[in-house]
Amino acid sequence: MHILVVNCGSSSIKAAVLDHKSGAPVVELRAERLGEEGKSEARINGGEPFACKTEIRSALAELLPKMVEQMPEGVELGGIGHRMVHGGEKFDGPVRVDEEVLEDLRALTPLAPLHNPANLAGIDVARDLYPDLCHVAVFDTAFHSTLPRRARTYALPEELVKKHNIRKYGFHGTSHAYVASKAAEHLGEDIRNLRIITCHLGSGCSMAAVEYGRSIETSMGMTPLEGLVMGTRSGDLDPGILLHLMREEGLSVDELDRVLNRDSGLKGLSGVGNDMRDIEQRACEGDERCRMAMQVFSHHVRKYIGAYAAVMGGVDAIVFTAGIGENSEVIRHRIAQRLDFLGARFDEERNRDAEVSRENPVAEIHNRRSRVSLLVVATDELHAIAQHTAHLVQERDLTRSEGRTIPVAVSARHVHLTQETVEALFGEGYQLKELRPLSQPGQYACEETVTLVGPKRKLEHVRVLGPARNLNQVEVSRTDEFYLGLDSPVRASGDVANTPGIMLEGTEGRKVELKQGVICAWRHIHMTPDDAEYFGVEDKDIVEVEVGHGTGRRVIFGDVLIRVSPKYKLEMHIDTDEGNAAELSRSSEGALISTEGIARLRHRRVRYDHG
Ligand code: ADP
Repeated sequence: MHILVVNCGSSSIKAAVLDHKSGAPVVELRAERLGEEGKSEARINGGEPFACKTEIRSALAELLPKMVEQMPEGVELGGIGHRMVHGGEKFDGPVRVDEEVLEDLRALTPLAPLHNPANLAGIDVARDLYPDLCHVAVFDTAFHSTLPRRARTYALPEELVKKHNIRKYGFHGTSHAYVASKAAEHLGEDIRNLRIITCHLGSGCSMAAVEYGRSIETSMGMTPLEGLVMGTRSGDLDPGILLHLMREEGLSVDELDRVLNRDSGLKGLSGVGNDMRDIEQRACEGDERCRMAMQVFSHHVRKYIGAYAAVMGGVDAIVFTAGIGENSEVIRHRIAQRLDFLGARFDEERNRDAEVSRENPVAEIHNRRSRVSLLVVATDELHAIAQHTAHLVQERDLTRSEGRTIPVAVSARHVHLTQETVEALFGEGYQLKELRPLSQPGQYACEETVTLVGPKRKLEHVRVLGPARNLNQVEVSRTDEFYLGLDSPVRASGDVANTPGIMLEGTEGRKVELKQGVICAWRHIHMTPDDAEYFGVEDKDIVEVEVGHGTGRRVIFGDVLIRVSPKYKLEMHIDTDEGNAAELSRSSEGALISTEGIARLRHRRVRYDHG
């Protein structure tokens, strides 16, 4: 799907139409020096700059259609994604923009007086131009909404904190999330098993501690001013310095704002501007201030790496990204050498050769003995915004009437047996006989049944499902468990370690005592990779599903496991208790109503290794 992504800053516009999967842009727009009468200019696809309107709304209204006109033939816009800097406490994920959301967004302006109004202008103009498309706001703060209270709280008087919503919000979240997941993908690990420190070092700089997929610490604060030394921002300071400057220099609020946001950081330290390339060059030539600027910059990043490793009780990967992180081998060297105590062994040569791009987004800069991966990862915030937008567009399409629904099958109690158990129950050399096929390809109900003998009671005529497997497994409902007199855990199929055992009775008094294998099946949806793409989910995601349309007993099941394989057929499986709760008939269908967000959170609590 092609998505138009709009990123409006206070004096610039960046926009692109790109494919949400590959991230490859088909047309790009840059406008700069907005607000500077006579100097505002724009380029499309890196071509010759041309003069454009200087006020942001009129500039957008002029430039967006010009850009869209230049899309290659056959490309159609599927939706529009907007970067929003501040989502406050309200927005902890991307959201489709409607009037209500717009009102909430406007109310957030005091939290980001410079950025949010420009972002909102982008949304207003684009909605006027393209009212029929789905508009999605993606927030820099959202990824950090999982920060625990202890990390997001400032030690200030409570009345003030409450009155002004003072807390750490964190920024660059879209980038931190994107590079953390790219790193996990590169390492071939589920992000939910990794502790990653991400260092976004661009014009603005921030770091995040991404513990098992969730941001639990980040260096920027209530505003983007806290944390690392940046291009023109100071980063961490003794707040007493501000008081001192106000008293001794008589600086006004606006003057102080200017000093801290525009004249400090690398620019203030180096005296030659905020571009790390120039600073490196001058430092090489012996400029003492520039050398100091590089030292102070790197020192802060190192300090935070140590802190975040301590906060997470260890680290598996450290990621460098954005302009400086991706391009400056000198800065990476200063930051990442002598981290052996953490288990991170830096490789000078690989660091020098590291190059990343959209096509090759990850480079390793650790050596073979390193326990911690040191990675350079190309960030791509526009791509990330396009992905989030496409996801919500697909979800919207789904909740519309033509949206695809998912057949729901109620699975009655049954057993899967190994060939060995089959023979122990039904006689030597016995083969299961197919009674009728089940909906999942290759699976069938057998003629054979067994009796389950629990500590309290028996259940007779429990169907055996074929073909024989390499594990014995007995799937019962909660009601069955009470009846039998045992407690079995909710598990995914195949995951039978440490589950209760049970006695099975076959024919002619044959019995088999299973040491383990009784589970209450975790409700799940089987789907093919194509289905997964359609629904915007991945294998092992946990989603919410609404079932029971029209039965009068609509139920939303949380904690539904997604299982993806080309061998599957689209179908949700629940047990008899769950089916009864929703009064499902034989042909009931469920609609996947929500995925992201809740899915992530719940996934952490359930440690699940695919059996
Ligand atoms: P943003 O997107 O926040 O404007 P970037 O992520 O593009 O910023 O980072 C911009 C910064 O990256 C520049 O200020 C520059 O200092 C730095 N940078 C880019 N290329 C290099 C390089 N080859 N060596 C050192 N620094 C670089």
